[in-house]
Amino acid sequence: MVYFLNEVDRKVLLNKLLPLAREVGISAELRGWSWSQEPIKPLYDVRMPMYLVSSKYCPTGRDSYLQLVKGVKPKMNYKIGLGKLIHGAISDSFLSFLERKELPFEVWWTKVRREEIPMLDEKMKGLAESIWNYVHISCKVEYENHRMQQPYATDRDIMATAVPFLIEHKVTGELLGLSGLLSPDCYDYLRKIIFDVKVHESSEMEAWHRLYATGYALVLESIYETPIDVGCTVYISWRAKTPHIKRDLFFINEDLRRWWIEERDLKMEIVAQKKDPGTPNICPGECIYWDYCH
Ligand code: SF4
Repeated sequence: MVYFLNEVDRKVLLNKLLPLAREVGISAELRGWSWSQEPIKPLYDVRMPMYLVSSKYCPTGRDSYLQLVKGVKPKMNYKIGLGKLIHGAISDSFLSFLERKELPFEVWWTKVRREEIPMLDEKMKGLAESIWNYVHISCKVEYENHRMQQPYATDRDIMATAVPFLIEHKVTGELLGLSGLLSPDCYDYLRKIIFDVKVHESSEMEAWHRLYATGYALVLESIYETPIDVGCTVYISWRAKTPHIKRDLFFINEDLRRWWIEERDLKMEIVAQKKDPGTPNICPGECIYWDYCH
C-alpha cells in the first residue's frame, strides 16, 4: 500500500517528528478548531476547493480567478489524467481488498470513465495495473502479518489495525471557507498522519506540495477537534513499469499552517473581489489554463 511507512520513515516519525511536535507544539490559534477566530476565521463568504488554495502551479493565483469568477473550463492534460487514474486505482483496489471483493484489474479498467479521462491509453493502463496490484498484495501481506501476531483477534479488529486508513474520507471544509465536499487522499487514524499523493512520471518535489496535507489537517482538526501534527506527501513514479514510492514525512508546524492560511486568504480575496491577478512572467507549460491565458 502506498501509505505503509518503510523502516526509515518509521524511524523519522518516532525519533524525529513526534518528539519535535511534542517539544515545539502548536499555538491553539493555529489549530483547525479555532476556525471562529483570527487568523483561521475566513474573511470572505466564499467556498474554495482545496486544490486551488493549496496549489502553487499558477504563481499569481489566476487559476482561482478563471475557475471561480470567469467559469473557464480547464483543459485536461496527460499529467492530470494520469493523476486522476492512479488516485482511482489506489482507492478502488483498497476498497476491493477491504470488502473482500477480489475485483480483477481488467474488470475495473472497463469501468474507468472515459469521458472524464479521454486520453486513456495502453501505457496508462500498465501504470494503473502496477499500482492496483501493489496495493492489493501489500494490504494482504500486512493483514496476514497481523493475523499471525494476534491469533485471537477478530477479522474486523485485524482489518482495522493492519490497514488503518480512511481513504478519500468525505468531510466538509466549510468552517475554513472551503468546499463542503472534500476528500483527503488518506488519513491514518492510528498514527494520525494525513497523506497526499502526487503522481509523476519523474519525481519532482516542491515545498508547496506540503500545503495540501496541511490544509486537510486543519480541516480534520476543525471537524473532529483532535490534533494532527504529521503530514506525508507520497510521490509515485515508475522505473521500467515498476512503481517507485517516495515519501516526504513532515511536522505540520506553525510556518506551514500560516502559509496555508495566507494562500487561502489571498485566493479568497481574488474570488470575492473578482480581481484578476494577471499572468506571471513564466507560466508552466502544462498549465490547464494555458490555452485561455496565451
Ligand atoms: S496559464 Fe499562467 S496565468 Fe494562466 S492560470 Fe496557468 S499559470 Fe496562471
